[in-house]
Amino acid sequence: MEHHIIPPSHPRYKSLVIREKIVQGYLKGITVLSGLIAHGRGEAFDYILGEQTHPPALRAIEAAVATMLLAKHPVISVNGNVAALVPREIVEFSKEVNAAIEVNLFYRTEERERKIRDVLLSCGAREVLGVGEDASATIPELHSERRRVSPRGILIADVVLVPLEDGDRTEALRKMGKKVISIDLNPFSRTAQMSNITIVDNIVRAIPLMIEKARDLKRASTVVLKRIVESYDNRIVLGETINIINNRLTELAKKGVFLELPKA
Ligand code: ATP
Ligand code: MG
Repeated sequence: MEHHIIPPSHPRYKSLVIREKIVQGYLKGITVLSGLIAHGRGEAFDYILGEQTHPPALRAIEAAVATMLLAKHPVISVNGNVAALVPREIVEFSKEVNAAIEVNLFYRTEERERKIRDVLLSCGAREVLGVGEDASATIPELHSERRRVSPRGILIADVVLVPLEDGDRTEALRKMGKKVISIDLNPFSRTAQMSNITIVDNIVRAIPLMIEKARDLKRASTVVLKRIVESYDNRIVLGETINIINNRLTELAKKGVFLELPKA
């Protein structure tokens, strides 16, 4: 399999390393073509956000972790992009918050499901739901076929973490009465708008922060966790995020050219 060597001195090194992971995911049959397009949309928003985690995202992360720690049956939904980018971190996080992991694909084939499961198992997952026969339950979904889910996972979940999910699917989960936490770089997407908690950040930055936060909050009392959840307002957090974008663009617009050629 062809690997592109990216020199660490490249000004966009980190972004290129992430992109290469998605390409490798595609070559291994984990990620699909539409996943590559979705990644490009994410990159565009990350540019606008300055490729950093902003304070509203930190608040969403705190509320998300508290919600998962309080949940009876939290589930982390994993697709091809998630498996290509942060498989190890997803497994680690699932253990910190005691959440089940379920493979959940928009373009479902059993081969891809199994490949994603195997990646997660090789990263230390104890069990991966939603593969083959295990996805025996169906839930109603707008604009696409009824979706198959695991009767031990998403079907009975009270909280579902959906990193990089489609808007229709998010809406379908909400209609089933589930609390939905999403990670999505686009604050304007239907997913971002439909979620109970939206973490507007790159998944490669967000999940490690969520692991840290979980280690921290695991020791907190139920009262403290509930207070965090109750005082969280996704409308305010999304509004602040859009404001950050707005202010950043205004500043950059004043300069026009804000990058300079390095001295020879
Ligand atoms: P909608 O929610 O309106 O249906 P969409 O059609 O863009 O939006 P999808 O293609 O299903 O939704 O989801 C991809 C989403 O994930 C995009 O909003 C994209 O910005 C975001 N995304 C892609 N890569 C990353 C990443 N590494 N971290 C966080 N978000 C990402
Ligand atoms: Mg969509």
